[in-house]
Amino acid sequence: TAACLSSIADAGALGAFVHNTPEIATDQAAAADVRIKLGDAPDMCGIPLGIKDLFCTKDVPSQAASGILEGFKPQYESTVTSQLFDAGAVMLGKLNMDEFAMGSSNETSVYGNAVNPWRRGNEDTALTPGGSSGGSAAAVAADLCLAATGTDTGGSIRQPAAFVGITGLKPTYGRVSRWGIVAFASSLDQAGPMTKDVRDAAIMLRTMCGHDPKDSTSADIAVPDFEAALTGDIKGKTIGIPKEYRMDGMPAEIEKLWADGTAMLKDAGAIIKDITLPHTKYALPAYYVIAPAEASSNLARYDGVRFGHRAKLAQGDGITEMYEKTRAEGFGPEVQRRVMVGTYVLSAGFYDAYYNRARRVRALIKRDFDEVFADGVDAILTPATPSAAFGLGENMDPIQMYLNDVFTVTVNLAGLPGISVPAGLDAQGLPLGLQLIGRPWEEAELLNVAYALE
Ligand code: GLN
Repeated sequence: TAACLSSIADAGALGAFVHNTPEIATDQAAAADVRIKLGDAPDMCGIPLGIKDLFCTKDVPSQAASGILEGFKPQYESTVTSQLFDAGAVMLGKLNMDEFAMGSSNETSVYGNAVNPWRRGNEDTALTPGGSSGGSAAAVAADLCLAATGTDTGGSIRQPAAFVGITGLKPTYGRVSRWGIVAFASSLDQAGPMTKDVRDAAIMLRTMCGHDPKDSTSADIAVPDFEAALTGDIKGKTIGIPKEYRMDGMPAEIEKLWADGTAMLKDAGAIIKDITLPHTKYALPAYYVIAPAEASSNLARYDGVRFGHRAKLAQGDGITEMYEKTRAEGFGPEVQRRVMVGTYVLSAGFYDAYYNRARRVRALIKRDFDEVFADGVDAILTPATPSAAFGLGENMDPIQMYLNDVFTVTVNLAGLPGISVPAGLDAQGLPLGLQLIGRPWEEAELLNVAYALE
């Protein structure tokens, strides 16, 4: 903890931490020392973590990197963070992210973006750590913490993990309680670990998950010992390679990464099978209807009354002006865009044409996966992202930004577990990741395949 605190103090330029909690960390570390001496040390005891700013942490600023939550200090602790702290984990501080987790580059944060610790060749250009969990990714990659929490609605754990060369796991929907995590798109959001390797992910996941009566979508299902499942033995397992993920214009190095990963699993004794997920091409448009729709509803609560920021009002302003001015000042441009798209697709005249159609597409995407798994596939291998980390400010067009999520959103739409593992470097020395997608609730199996790929 002491070493991490001093690294954090020296790494301000990375913009990874937006709020440091050294007093809490020091107290928690001292308490962990006592537990270790007494021989009562759970898995996470004394492990210094960074916590994504989307998690409510009691009496500690929790702003979801938004201006509208300025000054908000929750009176409660999220289920995930309280489980981690009960198991002895240490909180170093809160981590940067895209505002309300909407983005793929960390550039929509009210705090300004975090920076990727990696550089392209000999260039000085600052690169994105990915998003939305960009601060978590940068902090783990730069050794500012041993691991971090992330959340993933459409790729926000897996894409940043791939961009900085770490491991990121999005569990099955319902595996981890969403209680106390600021909601973006409730039917897609899921928290997970961002760690240095697969073993750490297995250890941290066990403490993060479990049934929570406070989240009605959290599943009452046994939590296995994920670490014990890491044998590396994948002989006879069937790995699906979906042809729809081989996109036009895919960079040759991503193709090669994918082929190398496939060969590695084959060498380890897996059976490689070409599969088809025919509705893949509709996933991104369906996601960018459903996620904004749910976001517009979730974000209606930020009204200048209940939380955080309230605009200064002029003489004669009524409650409508208060709402309008507060929301216009408090939300950044990407969040405003999502709220407008979301209210539009949910409006009476367009609900069937957009929202309902997107929901039907979602069901078809889920069915594609169900059929493949019913056919004996144990895990699916794909690239994690269509490119390596791009330069900050390079990708300013929203549609271009959304295209980054092309390989990751299907997993959220289908509620499946997905993991991104570091798989090599591109020609300019930047990390690239491969994604493995597993059957629902079979994170143990998924982690074991990922372990074989590591
Ligand atoms: N980049 C996607 C979006 O902007 C995913 C974000 C996430 O997973 N939180 O919606």
